[in-house]
Amino acid sequence: MANCNAVQKEIDKVLSKFAVMKEESAKEIDDVINSFAELKKKIENGGDLQEGEKLFLACNSITRNVLSRISNNHKDLHNQVSKVGKAIDRNFTSDFEAIITDPSFECRNDLLNKSIAEHLIREGRIDITDILARESGMLFTDENHELFLKLHCILEELKNHHLELAIEWAESCKNSFQNTNSHLEFTLHKLQFIKLVKKKQLTECLSYATKHLSKFAVEHTSEFQTLIGCLMYVNKGLENSPYSHLLDAQLWRDAEILLLKEACYLNGLSVESPLSVVINAGCRALPPLLDIKNIMHQRKCNDVWSNKDELPVEIELPNENRYHSIFACPILKQQTSEANPPLRLICGHVISRDALLKLATVNKVKCPYCPVEQQTSEAREICF
Ligand SMILES: [Zn+2]
Repeated sequence: MANCNAVQKEIDKVLSKFAVMKEESAKEIDDVINSFAELKKKIENGGDLQEGEKLFLACNSITRNVLSRISNNHKDLHNQVSKVGKAIDRNFTSDFEAIITDPSFECRNDLLNKSIAEHLIREGRIDITDILARESGMLFTDENHELFLKLHCILEELKNHHLELAIEWAESCKNSFQNTNSHLEFTLHKLQFIKLVKKKQLTECLSYATKHLSKFAVEHTSEFQTLIGCLMYVNKGLENSPYSHLLDAQLWRDAEILLLKEACYLNGLSVESPLSVVINAGCRALPPLLDIKNIMHQRKCNDVWSNKDELPVEIELPNENRYHSIFACPILKQQTSEANPPLRLICGHVISRDALLKLATVNKVKCPYCPVEQQTSEAREICF
C-alpha cells in the first residue's frame, strides 16, 4: 500500500500543477485575444497609424511572452509526468527474472497464447479470442468452445431472470445428473415457481407445482413444504410474509454458480479458469519470493534455492486453491516430487525414494521408524 501511496503522491502533484497551469494559461490567452480585439477595433475605426503600429508591436510582444511561458510550463509539466514513471519504477518490481528458476515458457508463446485463449473462451469473450487468433496467427480449436458459448447464453438469460434455456439444458442433462445428486433442476423450477407467486397467479402456481415440483417433494421435503406454504401469501405478497427470504436476489446468483459448477463437473472441467487460478496464486507468491530472493542476494547465498520443485518459503494459498496433499519426506525433510515419489514400506511407514535408496544396503532396507526389514522392491509408490 505504501508503494501505491508514493505513486499517488506524484500523480497528485501532476494534477495540481496541471490545474494551475490550465487556469493561468486560459487567463493569459484571454489577455492576448483582448489585445488583438482592441487592435482590430482601432484599425476599423481608422485611428492614428503610428499609434496603431505601436499597439500591433505591443500585441506581438505579449503573444510571444505568453507563448514562451506556456511552452516553459508545458516542459515543467512533462518533467513532473516523468517523475510518476520513475516513482512506479522505484516502488514496483518489474523484473521477475530473479525468481524464475524454470524457464518453462521460454520461446513458448504458443502455449501462453493458448492458455489466454482458453481463458477468454471460458469468459465468453469470443470476440477478443478471435482478435487474439488473428494477431497471433494461431488457430484456437478448443473442444469446449461450443459448451462455453452455450453456457454463457444460458447464464446471460439467467441474469435477466429468464429460466427457459437453463431448465431446457438441465432437463437435457437429467440422466447425467442422476449420478451426481444434482439440485440444479429443482433449484431452477423453484425459481420459476417463485416468479409465478410474485405475479400472484395462484392457479398457475398450483399447476406448476403439480407438474414440475411434486417429483422433488421426497428429496427436498423441507424446501418443498416452504414453497407450498408460501402460496398462502400469494395475494398479500411475499414481501410481507414469513417467506420473504424467497425473494432474495442471492437465490438467483446461487443458481448461476450452481449451473456453471454442474456444467463444468459434467464435462470434467474445473469451474475456475486455470489461467486465473495460476495468476491469483502467482500474485500471492511473488512478494514473499522477491523478498526472500533479496535476502539471499544480500547474504550471498543465492544457491540455497536451487531445487526447482520446491519453493524456499511456504506460500499460504486459500483453501479453494488446494488441490491435493503434499508429502514431505520425514528422513530427508524434502517435499516429494515425480522424480522422488513417496514410497510405502510394508510396515505402513512412508518415506521418499531417495531416502529409501540412502538407507538401503544391497537390496534390503530397515524401516527408520520400526525395525521391520524388507526388500527395497517391496516398497510401493503412493499418490496424494
Ligand atoms: Zn516402519
